[in-house]
Amino acid sequence: MAAGSEFDLIREFFTTPGGKGVALGVGDDCALLEIPAGMELAVSMDTLLEGVHFPDDTAAADVGVKALAVGLSDLAAMGAEPAWATLALTLPGIDDSWLRGFSEGFFSLARQYGVTLVGGDTTRGPLMTITLQVHGLVPKGQALRRDGARCGDLIYVTGSLGDAALALQILRGEISAGQPHATWLRRQLDRPVPRVMQGIALRRLASAAIDISDGLLADLRHLLRASSVGARLELDFVPLSEHYLACTGALDDRYRPALSGGDDYELCFTVPAQKKGELEQLFAQRNWPLSAIGSIEQVPGLRCFYPDGRHYHCDSEGFDHFASP
Ligand code: ADP
Ligand code: MG
Repeated sequence: MAAGSEFDLIREFFTTPGGKGVALGVGDDCALLEIPAGMELAVSMDTLLEGVHFPDDTAAADVGVKALAVGLSDLAAMGAEPAWATLALTLPGIDDSWLRGFSEGFFSLARQYGVTLVGGDTTRGPLMTITLQVHGLVPKGQALRRDGARCGDLIYVTGSLGDAALALQILRGEISAGQPHATWLRRQLDRPVPRVMQGIALRRLASAAIDISDGLLADLRHLLRASSVGARLELDFVPLSEHYLACTGALDDRYRPALSGGDDYELCFTVPAQKKGELEQLFAQRNWPLSAIGSIEQVPGLRCFYPDGRHYHCDSEGFDHFASP
């Protein structure tokens, strides 16, 4: 711990020179931001609680990265380009080395995506709590919403699923994993990569999109309900990393972490069948991993199938903070 005031802390770790569209940043009662003509502001907020959203042993820099990454993932899911962030920090005390690490992690990702930190709030409290609001820009009417999926659309996901959920299971001692698998999986938990470029590219291709934070099944269900449609999923097409496959061979249900785990921060989206070729070509050209996992149907509900046509019971919902045990 080092002595210092709230204001020293803000000055030292969270003050940055002006950025794009920032008429006034950190330091006054409000920030002043310029929204270009023809654009809509996309806004999202997430809270990370120590021990709930990241394990206690998570490095400070990783917490800084993750706090911003989960927000950028929401912007990606709307097809918005990241612009600004505000940060509310509740800390048990001032720990300079932790704050330095957090700040370095946070700003490394912020620089990468052109995000300017324009304000926040700093308070003392018993539990470390990090709340981040992100602001992005999207041309009017072009945002990717959850309610646009139509019967016959194809369902896609980016990246691979279940890696972060497996890392948590390894940490809790529920499954065992050798190296280098455990290290790779843990990195997916600590440093999710928001699919920002993919989201922006999907503006003119996808009919609906959501980011997967609570598990594929739970999040896809949100999209289906919002669109008043149903879907069929082919389990065989759900993308699993080589590390995932190496650690799940002995499980009764090796699909479960990929379907019902959380913290993936991949995009799940739907595309009209006639845009399939254009979409797949675009992702291939840019080396963006992409998997077609199913299709939208008229009948509400989600139906999952094994490769041999058997039905998989996929009734589990994703993580819910207020679910009864
Ligand atoms: P006020 O008293 O008006 O709420 P504060 O004293 O809380 O203002 O904050 C002073 C300035 O520092 C404000 O511009 C606020 O947005 C900014 N700020 C406070 N905490 C943070 C933080 N953790 N990160 C970035 N900016 C912050
Ligand atoms: Mg304040």
